[in-house]
Amino acid sequence: MDHFTYKNGHLFAEDVALSEIAENVGTPFYAYSTATLTRHYNVFADALNELNALICFAVKANSNQAVIKTLANLGAGADVVSGGELMRALKAGIPAHKIVFSGVGKTDDEIQLALSSGIKQINVESEPELDRINLVATDMGTVANVTLRVNPDVDAKTHEKISTGKLENKFGIEWTRVGDVYQRATDMAGVNIRGLSMHIGSQLLDLQPFHDAYTRAADMVAELRNAGLSVEVLDIGGGLGIPYFEDNETEAPTPEAYAQVVRETLSDVGVELVLEPGRMIAGNSGILVSRVIYVKEGSTRTFLIADAGMNDLIRPTLYSAFHKIIPEKEPAQDAELIDVDVVGPICETGDTFAKGRKMAKVEAGDLLVMRTAGAYGAVQSNTYNTRALIPEVMVNGDKYVIVRERVCIDDIIALDRVPDWLDG
Ligand SMILES: *Cc1c(COP(=O)(O)O)cnc(C)c1O
Repeated sequence: MDHFTYKNGHLFAEDVALSEIAENVGTPFYAYSTATLTRHYNVFADALNELNALICFAVKANSNQAVIKTLANLGAGADVVSGGELMRALKAGIPAHKIVFSGVGKTDDEIQLALSSGIKQINVESEPELDRINLVATDMGTVANVTLRVNPDVDAKTHEKISTGKLENKFGIEWTRVGDVYQRATDMAGVNIRGLSMHIGSQLLDLQPFHDAYTRAADMVAELRNAGLSVEVLDIGGGLGIPYFEDNETEAPTPEAYAQVVRETLSDVGVELVLEPGRMIAGNSGILVSRVIYVKEGSTRTFLIADAGMNDLIRPTLYSAFHKIIPEKEPAQDAELIDVDVVGPICETGDTFAKGRKMAKVEAGDLLVMRTAGAYGAVQSNTYNTRALIPEVMVNGDKYVIVRERVCIDDIIALDRVPDWLDG
């Protein structure tokens, strides 16, 4: 369920007409719905209610301060994967004791920042990283709270670029090594080992891999405890998939069904649970609004050339992702559907949002809306082809605010420096 609906023939975000935002802000832009974001967080939190779980929003899905702060006000923590994200989460008001730090390549500076900020835990992804954290913490005269990220060797059955839980992926410590490494961590002066973490992938539409991974996690906790080691925390990652499809709401598992898997596999383990949902919270809360520049009739197909490109939303070309695309003007019930390719202006064949998509006829100048763009959308945008970084707008009831300004072309070019030797 979301709050992007047609009213009087035009698409609204909550009580604001998208055409009005387009008029004032210019296209393309991202728009987020506060009510949708809030609803998704609450549905997820309610599903896990009695499980003693901390929900840490995966900031990499959408790191806008307004989004993080909306979630912080609802009680969310944050999962960050860089020093920059850690700074964003702190700045947006997430308390340090609700922040966990994941990622395979943490630098000394990032480890220092994490330790001086007093975050809840660092999820350690390799043995060399564990040694480094021990060293940095000892140098600082402090002790780092850590978990070991386990690579459980489970196939998440999702797109290869967002699978993280197989041995061939770079993430985590191979599960067969974890016992030894855990033991070693217990003896480190700069490390307080608190438990295990895992994250097997993103956009999972099948709950079985979660079931397999969490069962393995429960077994590992039992083994560690049998060996006399203390395990207090189990961080089970994010990854729950969401419906991007035409027939909305049918194919993705519900948060309640996911919570059932968590209960079945982990409710008797006696640990504090941490969850790291990203897409599930932010995905459906955002859209990308673009204007059709040209309708180009080819001999074999019709191209809708939009003013948004793959630099603004890279998911279709990076992950072969499907985004539902709808016109801002509500089509008549009986409108004829034609096959179109929706493409951007970038000089890359991969700059294609949809191929052979059935849509009601639109004209140059009309607005198009790409649904479910609130996660891994704006955060991955870039300035390829020297295009402006597009703005993000947040809607709340009948109000809206630009929550990230357009980064304009003059400012982008001004970052370049021309060496002296090139001047006359
Ligand atoms: C990306 C990521 C997440 C969030 O994944 P979603 O599919 O957006 O829920 C959680 N934890 C870690 C470690 C991640 O890298």
